[in-house]
Amino acid sequence: MSITANIEEIHNELKPLGVTLVAISKTKPIEDIQEAYDAGQRIFGENLVQEMVDKYEKLPKDIEWHLVGHLQTNKVKYIAAFISMIESVDSIKLLKEINKHALKNNRIIDCLLQVHIADEDTKFGLDHVELIELLESQEFTELENIRIRGLMGIATNTDNEKFIKEEFYELKVLFDGIKVSYFRKEESFDTLSMGMSSDYKIAIEQGSNMIRLGSTLFGKRVIKHFKAK
Ligand SMILES: *Cc1c(COP(=O)(O)O)cnc(C)c1O
Repeated sequence: MSITANIEEIHNELKPLGVTLVAISKTKPIEDIQEAYDAGQRIFGENLVQEMVDKYEKLPKDIEWHLVGHLQTNKVKYIAAFISMIESVDSIKLLKEINKHALKNNRIIDCLLQVHIADEDTKFGLDHVELIELLESQEFTELENIRIRGLMGIATNTDNEKFIKEEFYELKVLFDGIKVSYFRKEESFDTLSMGMSSDYKIAIEQGSNMIRLGSTLFGKRVIKHFKAK
């Protein structure tokens, strides 16, 4: 199936559910992203700063770019002017750096806090204790140029659906608890980003309202190193 057909099919599937699609275009060429754009997709996600900046420069300016990969503090400055959402915030140090560059650009940057839910060491993210510590820290309350929109999580890479379901269920419970405890008055805390190509249906059943699809839309990724122009 073509990218256009894939986008249309997923849009039709998600529309009645009120779930937002982030098209994960990492490693994919400009032409593929343009095709998805022409099919109506506007939110795209990348995991590398350099690759995102390069694509940002070449593609329509009404694209909303989401960063979904681990972000080093020294790279925030390259995306601060245009980034729509940073989904992978995993420390107060990073959040302070985002705040600093958001202020310089005279804007507020939307962020998700990434929670470690997978049964794997390789995935980044805050555990529950670190998440609460961050939210309760004095430093956090002083940040005026970031807006926490919700949580993001990546489930374990396994065929065991029951296992994945439990991880997503726990993240939804955590999301609801954090909302009540820390963001009761903030309607903008409304986003739970969970679900990728292999597990997005389970994620939606468990309460996700933002999914991040790469291979389902664009086909399998060939692992390669992206070359900037
Ligand atoms: C690559 C990636 C995705 C998309 O993965 P697919 O399995 O291709 O859908 C989603 N989220 C994050 C954080 C990713 O790095």
